[in-house]
Amino acid sequence: MLLFSCPNCGPRNETEFHYGGQAHVAYPDQPGELSDREWAEYLFYRQNTKGLFAERWVHSTGCRKWFNMIRDTVSYDIQAVYRMGEQPPEGLTAPPAAQAKSQPLAPAEANPTNTSEGV
Ligand SMILES: [Zn+2]
Repeated sequence: MLLFSCPNCGPRNETEFHYGGQAHVAYPDQPGELSDREWAEYLFYRQNTKGLFAERWVHSTGCRKWFNMIRDTVSYDIQAVYRMGEQPPEGLTAPPAAQAKSQPLAPAEANPTNTSEGV
């Protein structure tokens, strides 16, 4: 049994939680000005990180609140848990989405692990 530490409720069984995808994916400032490709990248392109990854979780059978977690995707070690709107504790790497935001994806390298067609 794996315990997740909800910021509101404390340690609980992982079966009480649901995964919500990559954390820190900001809504575009001017969504109406995005190209179809940029909008598709916002909606569907997510990183598939090997190692530390910032992700969202919801305590669905507890307080029903969303929070962020830094988890190692290889070892499943939970490095940090923090509330929505907060930044990860110092010493941990910046959220992958924040790093990617400053470097737009090149078409050929957009997401080599994504095999979906017709964006
Ligand atoms: Zn909770």
